[in-house]
Amino acid sequence: MCFSDARFAYGPFAPHYVPRQYIENYVTHHKVDEDLVLDTTVEDLAELPPRVPGGPGRWKVVLRKYDRARHIDLWWEEEFDAVVLANGHYAVPFVPEVKGLKAFIEAFPDRVVHSKHYRTPLVYASKRVVVVGNSASGHDVTAELVSTAHLPVYQSRRSPSRWDGDKPPPGIAWKPVIREFQIHASPNPNPGSSSHPSGRIVFDDDTYLDLDTDVDVVLYCTGYKPSFPFWEPSRHSGRALWDYAPGADRLAGGGSYWHTFFTQYPTLAAVGVPRTLTFRSFEYQGVAVARLWAGRAARPLPPAAEQRTWERERAARARREGRRFHDVPWEGGEAREWLRGLFDLAGLGTLDGDGRVPPVLTRELVWALENVRKYPEPGRGEGGGGDGADESGLEATSRSIAAPARPEAVEEDAGEWVMVHRPYKMDLLGFI
Ligand SMILES: Cc1cc2nc3c(=O)[nH]c(=O)nc-3n(C[C@H](O)[C@H](O)[C@H](O)COP(=O)(O)OP(=O)(O)OC[C@H]3O[C@@H](n4cnc5c(N)ncnc54)[C@H](O)[C@@H]3O)c2cc1C
Repeated sequence: MCFSDARFAYGPFAPHYVPRQYIENYVTHHKVDEDLVLDTTVEDLAELPPRVPGGPGRWKVVLRKYDRARHIDLWWEEEFDAVVLANGHYAVPFVPEVKGLKAFIEAFPDRVVHSKHYRTPLVYASKRVVVVGNSASGHDVTAELVSTAHLPVYQSRRSPSRWDGDKPPPGIAWKPVIREFQIHASPNPNPGSSSHPSGRIVFDDDTYLDLDTDVDVVLYCTGYKPSFPFWEPSRHSGRALWDYAPGADRLAGGGSYWHTFFTQYPTLAAVGVPRTLTFRSFEYQGVAVARLWAGRAARPLPPAAEQRTWERERAARARREGRRFHDVPWEGGEAREWLRGLFDLAGLGTLDGDGRVPPVLTRELVWALENVRKYPEPGRGEGGGGDGADESGLEATSRSIAAPARPEAVEEDAGEWVMVHRPYKMDLLGFI
């Protein structure tokens, strides 16, 4: 999922260094590097009084940078008219509370790991591993471990994913949720030497795996929690930036309109929070925020009361449908509606070329979003029905393709599916 004006070198499901290089190139290509201060941490953010009574608030930012030559931290303050929060939300690992887990980690510190620290399956060569989680990381890590770890690789799943079939793939054994971690004083097999405790992992179906004999490592692939350590609620009338309450898990702080704007703080915005089209959605958010603050938006934000109504209705809908406030799925047209809101707010640039025009989605992109899947799904490709997977795991999953681009690259399968070949190594989502 790239910015509209620069494709990935290849992709869309590229290894981690591709998006990394892409961002570095993008920044220098647009000469943004001249404006960047890197290796610097925002330690504190505080609202300042407006320049004129009734005007928008400003911000004091406390910054810290490590001086490698002198081995000291340099601290300083700067003032800004507006601040965009774009600090990401995949930095602080989330591990669910499980009975006995804390004591287990204390007793066996190297045996419980989070996927944040996972780099290569080689580290787990011949190890007995339990992977906890069945979202993207759980799926990818489990599949990779099959090549090196002791088999079976156990995968603890709360619920099936859309790409799971009726039975686990070869080399993987499914387990239910972990109910409890236990520590036992194991009987000492060698009289005269000191005894050592042993651990047991008990699952919801009363089955268990014992440390050392059945399991060496438990690898939590259970996601992350957003973190805003630079925001001290006591200095913001008690308002936190994130509501961690069960069922909430969303931007707070007196309003988070359109997943981007803070009703209470007109000069504060958040980019990158919704789980949707990476990069492309940041672009829409960035253009809309910049236009608004530059006074060149097509229209103002709706009044505060309307923003709060949107937020309330959004929260109620998320609760009703059992999903997260900031999940903006493509299915059902929600992502499109959200991007349209940002597009309409931003409006066009000037005839002189001032301001970036929010990109169009393009028919090509919309088609790809609706048809290309990273993981083959049972009954929709590999492992079910007709097989639409190509050699890289990309597949087209719908037969109703009015493929707007390169129709020669698409051919009807004998069955229900439409195969997408890549005779010239064309990247289906390279343009996204
Ligand atoms: C394992 C994994 C796999 C993923 N795979 C995909 C994928 O295949 N496709 C996809 O589209 N998305 C994927 N994502 C999601 C994607 O990485 C994120 O959506 C994207 O990185 C978010 O971009 P961002 O700029 O908002 O945040 P980030 O990329 O997290 O960048 C935030 C930046 O802010 C900096 N920062 C944080 N706090 C401070 C502070 N106090 N002061 C100064 N700087 C600070 C951080 O150092 C970081 O550089 C994946 C994520 C993970 C964790």
